[in-house]
Amino acid sequence: MARKKIIQIVIGLALVLALGVKSLYVKHPVLIGKTMGTGYNATLSGYVPRATVKNLRQQIEGELVEINRQMSTWDPKSEISSFNLSDESEPFEISAPFAMVVARALELSESSGGAFDPTLSPLLNLWGFGSGGEERKVPADAEIAATKALTGWRKLGVGVDSTLRKSIPGLALDLGAIAKGYGVDAIGQLLDEAGHENWFVEIGGEVVVRGLNPKGKPWRIGIQYPSSNPAVDKLQGIVNLTEGAVATSGDYRNYIQQDGVLYSHILDPRSGRAVLSDTASVTVVAPNCMDADGMATALFVMGADEGLTWVEERPKVEAMFLVRGADGEIFEKFSSGFTTATGYVSGKQTHK
Ligand code: ADP
Ligand code: MG
Repeated sequence: MARKKIIQIVIGLALVLALGVKSLYVKHPVLIGKTMGTGYNATLSGYVPRATVKNLRQQIEGELVEINRQMSTWDPKSEISSFNLSDESEPFEISAPFAMVVARALELSESSGGAFDPTLSPLLNLWGFGSGGEERKVPADAEIAATKALTGWRKLGVGVDSTLRKSIPGLALDLGAIAKGYGVDAIGQLLDEAGHENWFVEIGGEVVVRGLNPKGKPWRIGIQYPSSNPAVDKLQGIVNLTEGAVATSGDYRNYIQQDGVLYSHILDPRSGRAVLSDTASVTVVAPNCMDADGMATALFVMGADEGLTWVEERPKVEAMFLVRGADGEIFEKFSSGFTTATGYVSGKQTHK
């Protein structure tokens, strides 16, 4: 055989082999799907075997189904829904992860002076923000007072044996402010345990990252400009992270508008009323997403002055408040370590 011919065959074989090997891998796989009334996204940097991607997808989907079976108030058969329907004051058995999330929620209720409260379910339904499907409206003061009597985190107990206990019959749980963050942590743990080092996980805007993005840079997480007009889709700034969680709570996507006033879906448990303040959103950076998610909600209730003092007392937690000025312009207010810890790049100091 001619030498030229042999070379051609060798090159051909090498090409076939290379293409074959390549098709066994997925470059920077992105796994997306629906959960918790929103979407999830898990992105890995680098080449991942196709079989591994398939396996990860199954594990993630399975984990999310399990979390919803425990903690979703939208599923009438979930553990949380069964607990909410029960009028018993006897200990109610639940799964260990659900008990852990409730324990963490109660710690946050205590440390935030009641700004966070996982027992707001009856009030959320009254305002039309709950899973009961009621109409969204600003309730009458008397209705708020009567319903508020059914809430209160001190009326809820969680046992180390994974049990819940209510001290009044009407008490009901809502983990909407913390469950997405927990879900993000759970998926992150899955990726971690499978040995992946560079990834991004998100559910409905709550995020955890590790390592580097597909470009070999820190992960870039956009912070939404808080406009109540869904047509205005722009960024306030960008957080750059190689490790940790980011969560944002705001009043600009989920609210009641009545007589020109925006009533946010976050309630102040102490008044039973929607939070009305100059805070448009709060972004929290913390080591895990369950804490970041819960703290973002609690800080939204506290407001910038009280909230930033609270954040300064907590190591490894940083926050940014986006505050509305008199003319609707947005101002950024940071905890002392926010920009350093997150490499925050602001789009502009103020937008109109
Ligand atoms: P989002 O769901 O828009 O990401 P949050 O994480 O702030 O926003 O969660 C808001 C949800 O938390 C509400 O829809 C409600 O279910 C619940 N919630 C509202 N106010 C409080 C509060 N003060 N403490 C705990 N949970 C709350
Ligand atoms: Mg939250």
